[in-house]
Amino acid sequence: MHELSLAGGILRVIEDAAAREHFQRVAQLRVEAGALSGVDVHALRFALEACANGTVLQGAEILIDEPPGAAWCLACGTTVQIQTRADPCPLCGGHQIQPTGGTELRVVDLIVHDDEPTQPQAAVGQPT
Ligand SMILES: [Zn+2]
Repeated sequence: MHELSLAGGILRVIEDAAAREHFQRVAQLRVEAGALSGVDVHALRFALEACANGTVLQGAEILIDEPPGAAWCLACGTTVQIQTRADPCPLCGGHQIQPTGGTELRVVDLIVHDDEPTQPQAAVGQPT
C-alpha cells in the first residue's frame, strides 16, 4: 500500500523532530495532501493511525488538508484549477499545462504536548 510508506515517511519526519526538539507526545498533526499528490486521504489517515501506536504520534489528532490542484496553462497564460494531473485546461481544453499547486504531501504543522517544559521562557522585555 502506497499510503503506508508515505505514513512511514511522515512518522520519520516527526520522530526526527521529537529527537531534535525533545518532545514526547504529539497533540495534533496537520498534513497537507494536495489534490494532485496522488495520495488517497482516507488511506493515508488509516495508515498514520496504524503507524502511530507506540510512537510520539500515538493519540494525536490527525488533520489532513486537501488543497485543490492548480496548473499553469501555456496557451491561456494563466493559472487554472484542475482535479487530476490528466485534466485538460478548463478554459481552452488544452493539455499543455504544468501543475503548480496541490502537488505536495507534507507536514504543515505539529502541536506537541508540553508535559515537562524544557525550553527556557521567552524573554519579555529586559530584566531589571
Ligand atoms: Zn488553457
